[in-house]
Amino acid sequence: MDPRKNGAWQELLDQVRTWARVNSPWAIHFNSGSCNGCDIEILATLTPRYDVERFGIKLQGSPRHADVLVCTGPVTRQARERLLRIYEQMPEPKFVVVVGSCGTSGGVFQGCYNVLGGVDQVIPVHAYIPGCPPRPEAIIDGIVKLLGSLKTAKGK
Ligand code: SF4
Repeated sequence: MDPRKNGAWQELLDQVRTWARVNSPWAIHFNSGSCNGCDIEILATLTPRYDVERFGIKLQGSPRHADVLVCTGPVTRQARERLLRIYEQMPEPKFVVVVGSCGTSGGVFQGCYNVLGGVDQVIPVHAYIPGCPPRPEAIIDGIVKLLGSLKTAKGK
């Protein structure tokens, strides 16, 4: 059968794109107001001891090359615009993972005059990894679960 007929060609291309994305997601990390506890755990996740690269995950410096935005901390009034700008610069489909209780709900910073709340107050979130801070094993577990859902998800 000619794959260009009946949209089969497009379907094949979509399957290849999804396969590539799930097997080599590029991530960018943004701290929107964290105490740095969660950021240190993310750094530990990248070390050879935990070796998150075995899942094909690579940390990127530019949002234009990233599939996944990994956020830590509550969103402060000062960081809101930067978080939005980084999210908007990422190509579609894009996914957001929140690491830590502060990014999930504001955590210990909830109610502070300069804090808006969790990351989902500003941008859509696809996965939450709770903890204060979550251990590298929990971060890896959350990201691998997200990769599983990427096989069918379209992102935003
Ligand atoms: S969840 Fe805990 S470790 Fe992470 S930013 Fe908040 S207070 Fe710091």
